[in-house]
Amino acid sequence: VSRFGRTMFDIFVKEYSEKVWGIECHRIAAELAEWRIQNLSVGAAVRDALFPRSRGTVRSLARKFLYPALGIGRAAEGLRRQIEESNRVLTGVTVTGVHHSGGMIENVTVREGDRTGRYRADEFLSSIPLNSLVRLLDPKPPGDILAAADRLRFRDLVTVTVMINRARVTDQSWIYVPERGIPFGRIHEPTNWSAKMAPEGKTLLVTEHFCFRGDDVWNADDDTLAETTIAGLESLGLIHQREVIDSLVLRVPNAYPIFEIGYDGDRRKICDYLGSLGNLRVIGRGGMFQYFNMDHAMESGIAAADEIMAGSTEPRGHRREERVLAEARP
Ligand SMILES: Cc1cc2nc3c(=O)[nH]c(=O)nc-3n(C[C@H](O)[C@H](O)[C@H](O)COP(=O)(O)OP(=O)(O)OC[C@H]3O[C@@H](n4cnc5c(N)ncnc54)[C@H](O)[C@@H]3O)c2cc1C
Repeated sequence: VSRFGRTMFDIFVKEYSEKVWGIECHRIAAELAEWRIQNLSVGAAVRDALFPRSRGTVRSLARKFLYPALGIGRAAEGLRRQIEESNRVLTGVTVTGVHHSGGMIENVTVREGDRTGRYRADEFLSSIPLNSLVRLLDPKPPGDILAAADRLRFRDLVTVTVMINRARVTDQSWIYVPERGIPFGRIHEPTNWSAKMAPEGKTLLVTEHFCFRGDDVWNADDDTLAETTIAGLESLGLIHQREVIDSLVLRVPNAYPIFEIGYDGDRRKICDYLGSLGNLRVIGRGGMFQYFNMDHAMESGIAAADEIMAGSTEPRGHRREERVLAEARP
């Protein structure tokens, strides 16, 4: 409120935050505001709009970033290619059990379609959402660890992408939509990052519908989601319904860790417990339950690999977390 004033706060911060996180603003941990808005204020935003070169250290107003011509998936594909030069990558499989004994993980049970198998390894890295990992442990952890895992929650997401029969709709990276009457909270147009993200003369609008698994948004059928999205985009004056060529709905479970007051105590408690398993390291956004972007998530994996290669016996994760967070938060 002190940065934006009450009116601007209510419109741009409170409404939007409650739409994204699905909890009342006063239940959101203060750290989240520090990470997301850093030193952004009304003055800084206005200065940036009027004098773009005057940007100081407000990361949220970054004007330049790198983006692969054919989309962000290229980064994962590139990593996979390199790993497969000397190893195997299994996708489309689900870890259904993490079996440990004597303070070490011995193997994991994996389901692929209707087949199950077990994999042994010397070292294990997990980017499975932290609360899910706790529930997969066999034998089960103590009750207080399971209770802490139950308190850590994720916000789920449905993205509805519509293809528009026009070369470009906006010139924006992200458009935030706080209004409660519009079903989505954020829009981006990938062709503004790379023209190759849509066929020539066409563009895509990706809308993000924040939700919880099992609620009306998550359970809505694809046609209904496309209809409400198109109506919302029309009411914002961005498109006409007749310009829509196609749409695609994706459901993303555990998209955003929810940083609800008290989360850090639960997160630390779980991490300390997992630290007793000598060959397990947690990495990534959901895996560490941290406010990471993609670069930080990847950095946490690289740092964990460095630790293993160096034969580190550090208490697991603590130094790595510090290293990644030092980069994540200026
Ligand atoms: C809509 C959206 C837009 C975003 N935009 C940006 C952006 O512009 N820039 C940016 O830097 N970041 C962005 N992010 C954040 C970025 O996607 C994440 O930070 C990053 O994907 C985290 O990587 P990760 O490997 O930690 O987790 P994830 O990418 O979530 O990977 C975890 C994986 O674990 C799998 N998994 C879960 N349980 C199991 C199990 N039991 N067995 C096997 N596998 C399991 C999941 O299926 C998932 O594939 C965005 C995120 C979303 C949702």
